[in-house]
Amino acid sequence: MGDEKNIHNSGSETLKEHSLTEKDQGISRKQALKYIGYGAGGLLVGGGTGFYGYRKSLQISSSEADQIKKAKIVVAGGSIGGLTAAARLLRAVPDADITVIEPREQHHYQPGYTLVGAGVYNREDVIFDQKSLFLSGMKWIKDYVQAFEPDQNRILTRGGERVSYDYLIVGLGVETNLDSIENLREALQTDYVANIYDLKSSEKYRQLAKNFEGGNAVFTYPAGYVKCGGAPQKITWLSEDLWRNEGKRDRTNVHFYTTRPSLFPVVPKVDQAVTPLIEKRGILNHYNHVLRAIDISTRTAIFEETGENGTGREIRQPYDLLHPMPAFQTPEPLRNGPLTREGIGGQLSVDRQTLQHTQYSNIFGVGDNAATGAAKTAATIRKQAPVVAGNIIDQILGHEPSNNYDGASGCPLLTRYGRCMMFEFDYQGNLINEWIYRPTQETRLWWNFKVHGLKRLYRHVMMNGYV
Ligand SMILES: Cc1cc2nc3c(=O)[nH]c(=O)nc-3n(C[C@H](O)[C@H](O)[C@H](O)COP(=O)(O)OP(=O)(O)OC[C@H]3O[C@@H](n4cnc5c(N)ncnc54)[C@H](O)[C@@H]3O)c2cc1C
Repeated sequence: MGDEKNIHNSGSETLKEHSLTEKDQGISRKQALKYIGYGAGGLLVGGGTGFYGYRKSLQISSSEADQIKKAKIVVAGGSIGGLTAAARLLRAVPDADITVIEPREQHHYQPGYTLVGAGVYNREDVIFDQKSLFLSGMKWIKDYVQAFEPDQNRILTRGGERVSYDYLIVGLGVETNLDSIENLREALQTDYVANIYDLKSSEKYRQLAKNFEGGNAVFTYPAGYVKCGGAPQKITWLSEDLWRNEGKRDRTNVHFYTTRPSLFPVVPKVDQAVTPLIEKRGILNHYNHVLRAIDISTRTAIFEETGENGTGREIRQPYDLLHPMPAFQTPEPLRNGPLTREGIGGQLSVDRQTLQHTQYSNIFGVGDNAATGAAKTAATIRKQAPVVAGNIIDQILGHEPSNNYDGASGCPLLTRYGRCMMFEFDYQGNLINEWIYRPTQETRLWWNFKVHGLKRLYRHVMMNGYV
């Protein structure tokens, strides 16, 4: 992989590092200017929309603002979901009474983990001091939510404090369930197994990929809901590109085992565009396979393949490098508490449009932990946070929730170093703003936007409530 410092420096250094020629890049100066134009247009439209929403939320009379200030709003989980919704509320009513319950002192920019695994970002690129993320006026309880007590409108913290609220925003996210694959915990301690869903493990993966000398590289995609459904593919494709550029590709079999029937079934147009590109690169896609166990002694991944009639068949795949993806679950107080219901895998039970809890009208959900069926991404939160903030204001002022979330999400699919397909889609899997993104094309513009722009959007636009 070469000098990591170079790789880290910038997207263009990465291109140099992986020696893509002008011809490989397939883009002329004229085209580049055109794409920059599209990008600028996208930013204008996105910024304009955000600005409009921001202005709209400020149309509150001073008597309404006084009413809103009296409501005690508690946010469970101070990450991108909880903090963006809270910041949006504070932008509308600067003296709103907002308390955030969040145990961590360091915030991780998780969308950057893929780039850590790929050798583009370093650890320090994805860590923020948690304290620096709170807007002035937000109160911070540095503790875990131990239990929700919604009938009493309060939360019990791990430290034993009872925190009462008038309105509650739940943004606890989702976490990997390391017990969902037999022997996964032990396998992750070996020199052949790592994944990018944890910062330390992303750093390990980067080393394993760099030192890989060929053989079977096996990547998997889990069953159930997935945090950033694009990430397992992105790391597969970037790794393949890395080994190609380093001359190791002809001695490497790249296997991608997925539980799904195709690469990107959620958005058919993207699926149809990306699948032939990936197949042309010789990546071996295995559909309808779930990873059940890992045999560490023989370095074998054991899958169950679901046949057409629903029957299972065991498939054994030897590996020299394994990137396994376990299933996801919500944190303990949510999955075993009163705010979920049967059949939604421990997620927060919300109306998928208003994001209001289905049983408790003063509770709203934002981000990965909410059972909306939408993609679990920060891009989703950009669209959900204003809905949550707007509907809480509606409730305080005695109105029905009037803001609706349409399922919109986005994905920067990093197909290879220096190339990205960017797209937004809705609940139905329809592409949004196709004319801006040109979503079925791999472009350098969107790679640069992913590497250099999205973290700023996350930290400075979203977390400051300008959504
Ligand atoms: C490898 C990877 C790649 C990704 N790529 C992208 C991408 O390219 N684009 C994109 O938009 N998104 C991407 N994402 C997804 C994105 O990071 C998540 O969707 C986003 O972080 C979800 O935000 P959240 O606030 O809902 O939850 P999280 O960010 O997971 O935060 C949950 C918060 O709740 C806190 N918490 C947990 N339990 C408790 C408790 N009991 N009490 C109090 N607080 C608690 C945690 O400390 C944390 O701060 C990626 C994620 C990963 C892992």
